[in-house]
Amino acid sequence: MTVRETTCKSALTKTGGFLAEYTHSLQPYVGCVFQCAYCYVQALPIHQYHGGEWGEYVDVKVNAPDVLLRELAALRARGKPVRVFMSSATDPYQGAEAKYHITRRCLEAFIAHQPDLLVVQTRSPVVRRDFDLLAQIDRCVLSLTLETNDETVRRTLTPRCPSIRHRVETLDAAMAAGLAVQVAVSPVLPNDPAAFARLLAGRCHRVVVDTYFAGDGSCGSRTERLGIRALYTRHGYDDWYHPDAYRRLYETLIDAFGSDRVGFSKEGFNTIGTIGR
Ligand code: SF4
Repeated sequence: MTVRETTCKSALTKTGGFLAEYTHSLQPYVGCVFQCAYCYVQALPIHQYHGGEWGEYVDVKVNAPDVLLRELAALRARGKPVRVFMSSATDPYQGAEAKYHITRRCLEAFIAHQPDLLVVQTRSPVVRRDFDLLAQIDRCVLSLTLETNDETVRRTLTPRCPSIRHRVETLDAAMAAGLAVQVAVSPVLPNDPAAFARLLAGRCHRVVVDTYFAGDGSCGSRTERLGIRALYTRHGYDDWYHPDAYRRLYETLIDAFGSDRVGFSKEGFNTIGTIGR
C-alpha cells in the first residue's frame, strides 16, 4: 500500500449526471484501500491516469480542508446552492483518515459554512469518530453502504471491507446519536431478502438500492469489463448477475419500510431530502 501526501487546487468538483441533484462532489482522498472488485472508479480517468493498482494506493489531499473552507465561504457569499456528496470516487473514512483527519477537518468547514445538503457516503465504522461533527451539520445524511446481509458473500466479494457486524453496529450508534441515516444497498450483492429487511428494520430512516446494471454509468458494461460475471460464476452466484435480481429485495424492503422510504438507483440517490430530522 502506497500512501502519498498531495495537494489539490480545488476541493469541490461540480457534479451532475448520476448525482444530478447535487452541486458538488468532494473526495478527500484519491484511491481506496477497500478495493471492491466491482468498483467502477477503476474504469474512470481519475484512476487510469494515476497508473497505480486499484486498492494499492491512497493519495491524501492534505490541504483539502483549507481549500474547502475558502470555497464554501465564496459560494455562500454569492448565495449559491451547496449540495455536496462526499464521496463518489473514494471512501472518506478509509484507514488513512484515522491518521490524517482530512474528512474530519472538511466536516469542520461544513459546520462553519452550513450546506443545503451534505451526504456522507461510507462503509467504514471509522465514521463513528465524527458523529459529534455530523450532528452539528443541519442538513446532513450519513449514508452507510451495506450490500448484503450475508457475511460469507461479503467476505467472498469484498474481502477488504468492514464486516457486516461492524457496519450494523455503526448504524445502531448513528441512530442512537440522532443522525439522519440511509443504508445504501449499492450494489445489491447476493442476499436473503427477508433476513436483510429484518436486519435493517429500525436501523435507518431510509434505504436506497442500486445495481450494476442501473448504477455503473454504462448499463452494466463497465461491470462486465471488470470481470464480475466470471467472479459470480466462480462462486455460484450466477442467478444474482441479472438486471432484475434486485427486485425481490427491493419489494421486500418496500413492504417493510414503505415506498416513501425506499429509493432505487439514480432517482433514489437524488431524492434523499432531509430524512430523519
Ligand atoms: S469503498 Fe467505494 S470507492 Fe472504495 S473500492 Fe469500494 S466501491 Fe470503490
